[in-house]
Amino acid sequence: MPRSAPARAPITSPAAATVFTTVLTEGPVSRVDVARRTGLSSAAVTKAARPFIEAGYLEELASEGRTGPGAGRPANPLAIRPDREYFVGVKITGDDLIGVVTDLRADVRASAHHALTGHDVDHVVRALADLVGELLAGPTPDGTSNLRERAYCLGVAVSGDVDRASGLVRYSPFLGWRDVPLASLLEDATGLTVTLENDVKALTVAEQWFGEGVGASSFALVTVGTGIGSALVVNGDLVRGAHGVAGEIGHVPVADGGPPCHCGGRGCVEAIASTEAILLRAREVSGEPGLTMDDAVTRARGGDEPLREVFAAAGHAIGLGLAALVNLFGPERVVVSGEGVATYDLFEDQIRRTFAVQAFGSAARCGLVIRPLPFEEWARGAAAVAIQSLFVAESV
Ligand SMILES: [Zn+2]
Repeated sequence: MPRSAPARAPITSPAAATVFTTVLTEGPVSRVDVARRTGLSSAAVTKAARPFIEAGYLEELASEGRTGPGAGRPANPLAIRPDREYFVGVKITGDDLIGVVTDLRADVRASAHHALTGHDVDHVVRALADLVGELLAGPTPDGTSNLRERAYCLGVAVSGDVDRASGLVRYSPFLGWRDVPLASLLEDATGLTVTLENDVKALTVAEQWFGEGVGASSFALVTVGTGIGSALVVNGDLVRGAHGVAGEIGHVPVADGGPPCHCGGRGCVEAIASTEAILLRAREVSGEPGLTMDDAVTRARGGDEPLREVFAAAGHAIGLGLAALVNLFGPERVVVSGEGVATYDLFEDQIRRTFAVQAFGSAARCGLVIRPLPFEEWARGAAAVAIQSLFVAESV
């Protein structure tokens, strides 16, 4: 069973959750501003903040002075105390476990990798518990104790069909798992409270609370790499859809009669722009079956036109997929990220050009952020899910 955490601040009401998440994601912020942003009264903000201050999660900073001429009240901004609690995040891939410890603001304080030598459930649970033990054995930044003394929650991110509410991995193609109760197995093995989430959705939570999504009521995250995934936040809620797979931009068809996709369709974005699809096509056009991705990238950067066109075609397919997403949902911003974006210099122009042509009307004004994604970010996303599960009264 998970350890109890006697000194932690309970979320007792939706107002408490709202006030805490506002300070967490937008603070330091004055009570007056919290009230203005949340629609609560100043008295309600003060009442909601008090238990968090008493439990050490929030603090009042020194006065910034008067709020204005004649206002007569000092504005003491509320701020998070990030070292009050630590969170563990682990991303499981087919080959390894990547783990981080973060503070309350999802800033990484420790990280570690372990190779995964098998996909047997018991083996993965043991390896993950070892990794968590190693991560939490380190000292707190102030040196007064070890991280474990202030860590109660573990977030775990896995690709595939993951049911956060029941803690089940329903289907993981990389691990070959179906209906594995991973959350409860890991709670027994680590003593921490465990939240499972799909990996792209976990990254989206990190972006929503601590990244580009802060202050945006709707945004989308698109990941480009081995697969092409996406997640959507609309009106502040992560959209799951009736089947839990809403926003599968990777399988939006963008080329009628295009290359076959592993999903059974043809011409999907993923069948043209995934790392594997690009490599297959690069080998075809170069006539070199042994061509590696690194060589293809180097030669494309060096001006090899046929290879440059392979990357441009991938960028075009991604741009079409993004335009479809933006025309349907109208997010304020889209973040395009992923290990595949490490070569983004070869994609970016074409993604932006295609998007500009295909986005309908003022949807083209949607901000497009294209940037690489270090692998550790996936684990940080898992930690963000653990943070969210603690402080949101009812997780979306
Ligand atoms: Zn497909």
